[in-house]
This record gives sequence, C-alpha cells and structure tokens, in this order.
Amino acid sequence: CVSALNTPVARSSGQVFLRVLNDALFSGSGGADLLLPQADLGALLPDAAMAWLAQHGAALRLATRVRAIAPAANAWSVDDEPFDQVVLASAPWDAARLVRASGVAAPAWCDATEALRFEAIATVYLRGASPLAAPMLALRSDAHAPAQFAFDRAQLGGPDGLLALVVSANEAPRDVLEEQVLAQAAHQLGQRHLEVLQTVVEKRATFACTPALVRPGVRVAPGLLACGDYIDGPYPATLEGAVLSGLATAKALGA
Ligand SMILES: Cc1cc2nc3c(=O)[nH]c(=O)nc-3n(C[C@H](O)[C@H](O)[C@H](O)COP(=O)(O)OP(=O)(O)OC[C@H]3O[C@@H](n4cnc5c(N)ncnc54)[C@H](O)[C@@H]3O)c2cc1C
Repeated sequence: CVSALNTPVARSSGQVFLRVLNDALFSGSGGADLLLPQADLGALLPDAAMAWLAQHGAALRLATRVRAIAPAANAWSVDDEPFDQVVLASAPWDAARLVRASGVAAPAWCDATEALRFEAIATVYLRGASPLAAPMLALRSDAHAPAQFAFDRAQLGGPDGLLALVVSANEAPRDVLEEQVLAQAAHQLGQRHLEVLQTVVEKRATFACTPALVRPGVRVAPGLLACGDYIDGPYPATLEGAVLSGLATAKALGA
C-alpha cells in the first residue's frame, strides 16, 4: 500500500488501494506483469514518445518553459503565440500557477489543485554490495527499516556493487534515513560492508493519496484542459495514472 500510493498506510485511501489491487490481481492476464527495464527510463519512455511524435509530424520544443498563458478571442495564447486549445501537462503546482496568472475564472479547479498535499520518495544508493539473489527484492519495512524495495543495479545494466534502496512516503531526515537503510540492508540482505554513495530525496514526488480526496478535473476553462497523474482518476500518482489521464484528455480535445 505504501509503495503503490506513496502515502503512509494510516493516511491512505482504502478505495484507491482496493482499485489498484483489483486491477493488478483480478483483471486477467497482463494486469500485473513485472517488467524491469535494463535501459534507463529516459530511453524507455520519453525518448520513445518523442520519436513517435516526430514521425507523426509533431513540432517538439524541448527545454522550453511556458511562462504565461492567456485567454484570447475563442483561443489561447501561450507566451504570446496563438493556439486553438491548450493542454497543461505539467506538475499540479505549475499548472495552478499558470491558470491563476492567466486571469481566467477557474476558482474551483485552482482550489482543488492547490489543496493537494505531497509525499516524498527517497532513493539511497549504496556501494560495496555483493550480488543480490534477484535484480529486485521486496523488503520488510517498518518505522525503523524504511525501504520497501532493493534494486541490484549491477543486474540492471549499472555498475558492479551498486544497490538502490527505495523508500516511499519518506518522512525521516537524511542522516537518520541513511543510518536506518544501512542497518536494514545488513539485517535483511546480509550486506554488511556497504557505504552510502548518494541519497536522492524527491520532496514532492507524488500527491498524498488520502481518503475522499477531491482531485481537479480535465476541463479547466473553455479551450483549456489539463492532464497528469493528479487529475481526477482511479489510480494514485503513477505512470499508469498519467497515461490514462493523457488518453482521456486527448479524447476530450476532440469532443
Ligand atoms: C522518485 C520517484 C519514483 C517514482 N516511482 C514510480 C514508480 O515506480 N511507478 C510509477 O508508476 N510511478 C512512479 N513515480 C511517479 C511518476 O513518476 C509520476 O506519476 C509521473 O511521472 C507523472 O507524470 P505526469 O506526466 O503527470 O507529470 P511529470 O512526469 O511530472 O511531467 C510534467 C512535466 O511538465 C514539465 N513542466 C512543468 N512546468 C512547465 C512549464 N511551465 N513549461 C513547460 N513544461 C513544464 C516538467 O518539466 C515535467 O517534465 C515516481 C516518482 C518519483 C519522483
């Protein structure tokens, strides 16, 4: 539950968790295939998407931050360039900031988006490891052993001896976390000669998936839509949720 929703169990939405379990375990063949990529995630997803878009004639502008959007007569301007419709596919805080600054009347959408709270994910990279029994192992996690999964990077195309231990819904300070993860790796994986190489903490990794959460919808204002993992939908903040939202928004664009 903690890893799927990235929210501590006591604050998690049971309804969303049941939906995840149902779709993963009871939706038939392919519902919960575990795929471990050996390529990096950039090559796997965004690079492949960009290649597809380029093949289909889309104009791509990388590393171009949208600074402002504004309603124009039956259209929208994006940094002073006119467009028939706009889809905001950014993180919720960026989308809400752009919508508020545009002056368009969308108070309910902005309120719901700004009311979202966030949870952290920490990844502790450890070096000096001997090979794990499998490239990915589930760990027993509790308040003192915070990591839920261990990845043996050497078995996934990374350097020898490198482990990544992932801590969903992390609330511990960095030094405490590193100490606990080292102890957990020694105790649960028998890895007693590790040292911390790097700890990456993404503070706003996902929205907190709490009970009865009101999530913003796809339609922000006439001609202005939004998509992303935080948009109203059945799943917690996941790649799957983001893809579902993207497909729904593409459909809404044509409607
Ligand atoms: C450490 C970590 C581990 C995770 N692990 C998993 C996992 O194992 N499985 C899983 O399913 N999900 C996981 N997630 C969650 C997953 O990454 C997200 O749910 C997903 O990326 C959300 O996609 P998105 O398209 O909604 O938003 P994002 O991927 O956040 O994309 C939004 C994009 O908008 C861009 N942007 C923002 N403002 C502007 C602007 N003004 N102009 C132009 N562009 C802008 C940003 O740069 C960004 O590229 C993880 C997340 C983190 C942080």
